[in-house]
This record gives sequence, C-alpha cells and structure tokens, in this order.
Amino acid sequence: MTSRIKSKASEFLKEFISSGYQVGSDVLELLMSKEQPESLIKQIIETANQLPKSPLVITKEFLNSIEPSIKGKTRSVGTDIFKRDFEIASPVIKRDSLLQDAPERNLIDAKDVEAEITILKTPNSKKITSKVPIENLANLFLSRYNKLKKLLQERSDTRNSVPIAALHSSDEWEDFQIIGMLTLKAETKVGGYFLEIEDPSGTIQVIVPQKEYNIVRKAERLLDDQVICIHGAMRKSAFLVKDILLPEIPTTHTWKGAPIPICAALISDLHVGSAKFLNEVFAQFISWLKGEVGGEKERKFGRSVKYLLIAGDLVEGIGIFPNQEKELIIKDIYRQYDEVGTLLKKVPEHIEIIIIPGNHDATRQALPQPPIPREFAADLYEMPNVQVLGSPAYINIHNIKVLMDHGRSLDDVVESIPIIETETPDSAMVELLRARHLAPSWGGKTTLAHEPNDFLVIEEIPDIFHAGHTHTNGVTVYRGVTVINSGAFQDQTNYQKRININPTPGIVPIINLNTKKVTEINFN
Ligand code: FE
Ligand code: ZN
Repeated sequence: MTSRIKSKASEFLKEFISSGYQVGSDVLELLMSKEQPESLIKQIIETANQLPKSPLVITKEFLNSIEPSIKGKTRSVGTDIFKRDFEIASPVIKRDSLLQDAPERNLIDAKDVEAEITILKTPNSKKITSKVPIENLANLFLSRYNKLKKLLQERSDTRNSVPIAALHSSDEWEDFQIIGMLTLKAETKVGGYFLEIEDPSGTIQVIVPQKEYNIVRKAERLLDDQVICIHGAMRKSAFLVKDILLPEIPTTHTWKGAPIPICAALISDLHVGSAKFLNEVFAQFISWLKGEVGGEKERKFGRSVKYLLIAGDLVEGIGIFPNQEKELIIKDIYRQYDEVGTLLKKVPEHIEIIIIPGNHDATRQALPQPPIPREFAADLYEMPNVQVLGSPAYINIHNIKVLMDHGRSLDDVVESIPIIETETPDSAMVELLRARHLAPSWGGKTTLAHEPNDFLVIEEIPDIFHAGHTHTNGVTVYRGVTVINSGAFQDQTNYQKRININPTPGIVPIINLNTKKVTEINFN
C-alpha cells in the first residue's frame, strides 16, 4: 500500500473505532476499492447502530448480511434512524395506468354527501407589503420559545429543565437539562458538534462529543433556530451533551377515519401561466374526478372525491426569477388567475376546493402567507365550492385535522440536513413535525414575517400534513400522521434542469378518508 492509501485506511479504521466497532483489514481493503467509501462507512455504522444487537467486529459476513438494507436506502434516507416510527403509508398504491380497476371498494358518490368542513386556523388578510421592523424578531422568537417550551414540557423527560442563567459550574460533573433555541451549530474538527443554545435568561455553548454517535446523528439533523431540550453534564465551564430531545409527535398519536368512505385529492404547484404547466394532464385529472375515465370501479373511485386540497403555487407568477418571462405563456398575473378560475370551474361543483398560496402566488412572501387577495382572484372567491385561505391553514374535514402548508421551508431543511434529499420531501416534512415548527430557520431561503406571535409553531398535531413546493411526490406515515407531498402539475423547467431537480409532475395522491389509504395516481 502506498502511504496515501495507508493513511486513508487508518482514517477509515478510526472512523469505525470511534463509533465503537472493530474492523478487519479485509473489510478495509474492500471498502477502499469502492467508489465512495466515506458515505458507505457512514451507512454501515448507521445500520450497525440500528440493530438491536450491534456487532463487535465488522466482518465481511456482516457486510453481506446488511447489504440489502444499504442498497435499499433510496427512500426516506433522512429518517432511517427513526425507522421504528414509520409505517408504510398503509399502503401507498402507485398506479401508472388508469386502465386497471380501482383498488378501492365500497366507495360512495361524493355528490350524495354533505361537505363537513370547518376552518380551524389560518392567517388573516394583511397588506401585501407589510414591513415589520427587525426589532420585532425578538418578539417572534420569544413567542416561539414559549410555545415550544410548553410543548417540550409535555414530555415526561424534560420536566427538570432549568434556565440557562441558573446553571452553575463546580469541580464535579453535574447533570442538567435546559430548553433553548439553537442559535449556532458547527461541526467540530473531530466529527462532533458545537452548539450554541439560547433561552430568555442567557446563552451557553455545549459540545456533542464525537464518540457519542447517536447524539451526533441527532445533532446533524438539527435545524437552526429550532427549540430543543438538552440533557447534559457540566463541570467547570464544560457542558457535554448527553441527549437532545425534540418537541416531537407523541408515539400515542392516532386518528380516526371518517365514518363514510369518501376521498380527498391533494394537489399543488400548478404554475398556471408557465409554458411547462401540463394542461392536458390536468384536464385528464378533472375528467377522472368527473368519473369519466376508466372502468366502472375506476369511475366510482373518481366520483368518490369530495375534497380537492391545493397547497399553493396556483400560478407561475411574474418576476419570480430572472428571465422568467421567456417561459411564460400568460404574461399577466391577473390573466394567470383568470385561467386558474377557468380550470377549477371544470371541477364538479359537489367537490369542495380549498386553496392556500405558495411562493409563486400574488400575496405576501414572508410566512405566514395571507390568502391570495380577492383583487387577483375574484373568480375563485365567487365560486360557491371554493375557500381561499392562507398558508398554513388548519382545517377539519369529517373530524380529521388537516394541516396545509405550501412547504416553502422544505428547501432549507433539505439544504441544512445533508442526509435528506429533495427526492424524499416527506422525510423533510417529518423533520418539521418533529420540530413542531413549519419553518424554524431564520435567514435561509424562507422569509419569516416578524410578527409578535409565531404562527408557524405546530401547536396542534395534524392527522394529515399536506405540503407541496418540492414538485416531487412523497407519502409516509410518521407516528400516526399521514404526511403527503403532492408534487406538481408543472413539467421540469429549464431552471430545474440546470440545478438537477427532477420533478414528478402529474401524480396525484388520493386519500380515502375512511380507511386512510393513499393511492398515488399518475395522470401523466
Ligand atoms: Fe412550486
Ligand atoms: Zn413553491
């Protein structure tokens, strides 16, 4: 071995040893022959850690035994250390053809059913250009801190937390719990983490030792400005982290399906006005809703849809990014909304349509977003079966709590947690649920309105969490919450092509509100 390779091998060896594993030289050699040994090693350690009985020595036989789980890591990569919390979305049925018979049985015609829908909470209309002074950021953060502290304290393991100012150092190690906002996170040279935590009483810097692999993994997933509880031990001025707790969704959460077998269709990101809006695919979807497509069971399935939930980006908008006008076929924002009206009027009237805005829509960009103003979308306001709400919106349908949010912050989540990818937007949504906040990080791509009340704390646990924005479909069930990203009706744009984003347009998740079963239908 050349010395360069030797030093690589000893680096790998260290990696294993620091995580508590011995490793044979045959395994090291094998790893060095692989293309991306670093990430492979990470995955091996991660998989070994998850096993109920972790091995002492990583052998070739062990590698063979875990190979399938390493290869099969394309989905929900971001959430695999919490794998036990996931159920297969009971189950997701993917269908590429409308010709086969619908898998759903006993569905009833939605037009024979009264809509049962109440709006629980949504941001009110505000001036589009409301400028709030930066000093108000402190109030927003204080509101966030207080709400999330309350949620954290519902956990039995966070009860003994003390204010940061009350921490005292002594010559002996002493255990403490603190609840604070993560104001800084940095990886240490040796692979641990340095965190700065702030509460209203003060600030403290804490260290996640690199040898505590599971805590390092938790730290890796933390989002800037999220509120967490830290268990740690303090001696003199050193504070070592022993555990990190999030507000989380309690494991006991569950929801009861609607008493009647009807469905909701979840869509988002139409981007009407863009040359890439898939007009014909959308028309096909509407025909399906009318019960005009497929065999008898398929038609019945389409007719059972009572609710159409649209999670933002109805139009492409104008002036959103440089040179956008080249990709517009409708260059006037009012006319873009007129076209949305024309399209949605084709949806059967017995279907209740709920609309929230996205970052391409004509409303305030800072979150929370007020509803698209009537001035732009008069047609939509006049339709008796349409409700125009803000983002996020909490609604109740047949006693099922649905949280609709455009998902603007998913970009920031994907960017700050390297193991979560755009292809699995559902994993990113799960991180928001665990943080109990729809957009924790200030100063990223997501702009937050500096309001005195933090509207984005997920105070009430939804039964269904619906978002869009990533243009990629994703469905999962996390601790009883059905998490759905509804993709898009816009084909890959030139911009997306350049930055290597591959959307999955034209796939619509339909949820049976009675059985909770999600079927993803590809209309494209
Ligand atoms: Fe979009
Ligand atoms: Zn968007």
